[in-house]
Amino acid sequence: MASLSLRHIYKVYSGGVRAVSDFNLEIDDKEFIVFVGPSGCGKSTTLRMIAGLEDISSGELYIDDRLVNDVEPKDRDIAMVFQNYALYPHMTVYDNMAFGLRLRHVPAKVIDEKVQEAASILGIQHLLSRRPKALSGGQRQRVALGRAIVREPKVFLLDEPLSNLDAKLRVQMRTEITKIHHRLATTFIYVTHDQTEAMTMGTRIVVMKDGIVQQVDTPTTLYDNPANLFVACFLGSPQMNIFKAKLVEENGNLYALIGEINKVMIPKSRAQRILDRSIIGSDVLLGIRPEDVRYEQALIDAHPESVIESTVDVIENLGNETILYLNVEGKDDYTIARVNARYSFEQGESLKMYLATEHAHLFDATTETTLMGVPDYNLIPAQAVAMENTLAIMFGDVCVKLPEGLLNRITDKSIINNKVTLGIPPTALKAEGTEGDVCIEGIAEFFDNYPRFKAVYMSVPGLANNVIVARPLDYEFMGGETLKVYLDPSQIQLFNIDGERIIADNIVTGNTSTGTVTKVNESYNYKFVGANGSKNRLTYEVKPQKVEGEGEEGTAVQAPAVYIPTAENDTPMYILPRGLAIDKETIAQTPKMVLHGVIKHLDEYHRDAIITAEVAGFDEDMTVIIRNFSGYNTGDKIRLAVIPQAVRLGKYESFAEAVKKQEAQEEGEVRYKELTQARENERAIEQATAAATNETVAVAEKPAKTTAKKAAPAKKTTAVKRPTAKKK
Ligand code: ADP
Repeated sequence: MASLSLRHIYKVYSGGVRAVSDFNLEIDDKEFIVFVGPSGCGKSTTLRMIAGLEDISSGELYIDDRLVNDVEPKDRDIAMVFQNYALYPHMTVYDNMAFGLRLRHVPAKVIDEKVQEAASILGIQHLLSRRPKALSGGQRQRVALGRAIVREPKVFLLDEPLSNLDAKLRVQMRTEITKIHHRLATTFIYVTHDQTEAMTMGTRIVVMKDGIVQQVDTPTTLYDNPANLFVACFLGSPQMNIFKAKLVEENGNLYALIGEINKVMIPKSRAQRILDRSIIGSDVLLGIRPEDVRYEQALIDAHPESVIESTVDVIENLGNETILYLNVEGKDDYTIARVNARYSFEQGESLKMYLATEHAHLFDATTETTLMGVPDYNLIPAQAVAMENTLAIMFGDVCVKLPEGLLNRITDKSIINNKVTLGIPPTALKAEGTEGDVCIEGIAEFFDNYPRFKAVYMSVPGLANNVIVARPLDYEFMGGETLKVYLDPSQIQLFNIDGERIIADNIVTGNTSTGTVTKVNESYNYKFVGANGSKNRLTYEVKPQKVEGEGEEGTAVQAPAVYIPTAENDTPMYILPRGLAIDKETIAQTPKMVLHGVIKHLDEYHRDAIITAEVAGFDEDMTVIIRNFSGYNTGDKIRLAVIPQAVRLGKYESFAEAVKKQEAQEEGEVRYKELTQARENERAIEQATAAATNETVAVAEKPAKTTAKKAAPAKKTTAVKRPTAKKK
């Protein structure tokens, strides 16, 4: 019995193959975890790292709270069963099972008890005296399991143990392994590329692709709420139908347009789960599982708004069900329907099909991530305003003032007094607040149950999208109730207009240095004062250009201009965090602008990374932002090509300094007033509309008593306090 914790696990094989990236998972005692994904996605590598058969390149592995990165495989209390079970051919089944225990000098009586018990669990008592060659494949696999069971390990690791068996035996062994798991009540980790095995055996499934975990959840949640197109299509057979579609809103209803002729309605129950309503009007991918493509006349008659035209091309009658391969205008591949086998169809027949859009999935056409479900962050369009010596993030009636410590971790100054996207993790919105927390108020609209929490969707005044709040499973949901949630501002993330995450784990140091500029032939050398014996040096191969104000405090030299030093020494320089590249091509193109360093910290989110690197010549560790990052770990040496346009000669100004500047603050004040005014105007309009509606209702009900009334507050608008934006 054991729990496991995998924290930021990476595996890079020699030769640079990055097999596993940033694998994070908490495994509870007695869980049956399945790693699933196509061949080469890093499942076995992860399992072998857990077993200790493969070194962990970086990250931490704990078994029962004990760090085991450097613990020998035999001391990890783990048993592993492989696809090639490699029994000793000259030994009987009994001896094969007893072998490991004999090596450990376990008394013969104890060995006998354990072998007999394991044999009875596996139903192989009658085979104990046979040799492996006199066993069937399934029986051999059982012996291999028996060898693991007698050791009574804390964790069972199984690597595709059934893939050598024929289809029928596989199904049988599947249920047997599940039974053994129940009987032994210990932790199992099982690797397979077979989605059916994953769905039927796992208490939780880890779906992997290209070394990256795509989603971890129970089989049902993965099936019903896939996080992206890959998970959606990997699980389920036949796989989900994906239609290219355009979302449109008509008379308050949402429709998906498929090709030129088909149009289906997305019912409100689905539409209200869309995370970002700005997607309406755009192209999306609409996912419908084959069992949700229905041909029953009653359904078609009841839902004419969700019916498509199709032609039958291929009919596969499987006896218990029929699989129809349909051609649908505007869809390149087949639309697959899984229907009752008792009905007959004809090739070439035109069929109206009902798409059960209450189970529809929607994915972003570019990123292929789901447009529904629970995101890492609630993404809220907001304004960043410099005020009261800090940055205030404002949306609707809410104002989040950033704590001082956070300012110095922001990588992008262009957000000051500008648009920004505020990211709030659903788990960061608490039911109770402490000092300094921001209160957000809204209306509880509906909820979805997830295995570990209840996702409550809350409408917030001034926001087009619902805000998702994670609540404990026993939380009693009351639709229409006013909800108050509290946010610790240090939990937020910010994204700039390019969608790039801009709050780093570490302080952004500015990449500052001091150096000497010298002219060598037609080039200009920048020699770092502090680079003691290192290779680091920058050589510009461009003609210098005098730039006004260069070298003065806070000014920058526009590259490719080069600073011509007034004093030969001590020229301050800094490099923008986005101005460094790690790809081979850029490094090859600019060999004289390459810095050498060592990665101290990696802060990755999806494929973007903020790297903290120690580079000789710089005052402090460098901050480097790389998009589409892969292939490095903490501790690795790294080469950084400096893009000339990103070099600034002059004094660096930190984010905090930029925010606190007089001009930024004044501009922020103006911006703050504009935003508050705009919000007040909006509210007045809402109230007037609500009042007009109330009057109409009143007129209809009691015509005699109608009198002109003052604007009453709209029903759904809650007055939200502005806890942090009070002006002195
Ligand atoms: P899976 O179990 O999902 O099929 P693996 O974990 O075996 O995948 O492999 C993941 C990736 O690592 C693959 O690209 C594979 O080629 C590579 N790989 C596996 N073992 C080694 C090795 N010993 N040396 C170099 N690359 C390896």
